Amino acid sequence: MSSIAFIGLGNMGAPMALNLLKAGHAVTVFDLVPAAVKTLTDAGARAAASADAAVAGVEVVITMLPASRHVEGLYLEHDLLGKIATGTLVIDCSTIAPDAARKVAAAAEARGIPMIDAPVSGGTGGAAAGTLTFIVGGPEQALARARPVLENMGKNIFHAGAAGAGQVAKICNNMLLGILMAGTSEALALGVANDLDPKVLSDIIAKSSGRNWATELYNPWPGVMEHAPASKGYAGGFGVDLMLKDLGLAAEAALDSRASIPLGELARNLYALHSKGGSGRLDFSSIVNLYADDASR
Ligand code: NAD
Repeated sequence: MSSIAFIGLGNMGAPMALNLLKAGHAVTVFDLVPAAVKTLTDAGARAAASADAAVAGVEVVITMLPASRHVEGLYLEHDLLGKIATGTLVIDCSTIAPDAARKVAAAAEARGIPMIDAPVSGGTGGAAAGTLTFIVGGPEQALARARPVLENMGKNIFHAGAAGAGQVAKICNNMLLGILMAGTSEALALGVANDLDPKVLSDIIAKSSGRNWATELYNPWPGVMEHAPASKGYAGGFGVDLMLKDLGLAAEAALDSRASIPLGELARNLYALHSKGGSGRLDFSSIVNLYADDASR
């Protein structure tokens, strides 16, 4: 078992840290929001007064933060790397720009700190169940050290390549997710506008050629799936603004590589409109409300 510092206890970080506790690791936690810390200390974690205090004397540091600016801000501007002992393994699970991941990993390597980018897929349900997919970029030896810890939080671990490659793969996945959630919403709204029951239509699609992750696990229509964010007022889950961030990262990657992503760009604009309408903090499946005003009634 390892001593682990876990920083960033939001919708994803909290259930991931809980699984590390359940597996018997000694977990020290820190988040800027005190209520997030309390959930973990109630379950047996040790609270640190700051990120610097959290990383003191641990073998592994894990971060699960919203975006590039938070990761660069913490590790580089705040210089958390300067407080981490040489040889400590650092795992950043946030979804951020590949360039930001490479920059932080290079700074870590220069200090003798092995680091991997390990963004995840599987949503809050996967985080709670310990069935996440980890998509890793970085040196093979660092991944070998991380593997036993990642296995306590996830089921599938992929090595995408060198530093930043995990982020590239994750961004491609999330661009597709954004498109398919918008497409699923569009199809369900069309069916309902033509007098179909959304549950019946969802059951049909789930067993037909249009099936996808949304129709199987994360239906955007309220009441169709009891445990989906759609049936809980779109609370928790994966925020619209986080999806918008990921689609922005896809657009940047496309510009850099001269790739064409017409559907990704369209999806980015749909989520931008939805966010502008005041839904930025709701789960991203609330995009269905762009198509059907009455979906949440
Ligand atoms: P969240 O906003 O719920 O949680 C982020 C947490 O980080 C918050 O509790 C915040 O207080 C904390 N934080 C920010 N800056 C900090 C700092 N300097 N020190 C300590 N704590 C700090 O976000 P989330 O939904 O948990 O997502 C986290 C990351 O995982 C994002 O990059 C997101 O894109 C990615 N992701 C999310 C999901 C999902 O379903 N929610 C799925 C896969 C990947």
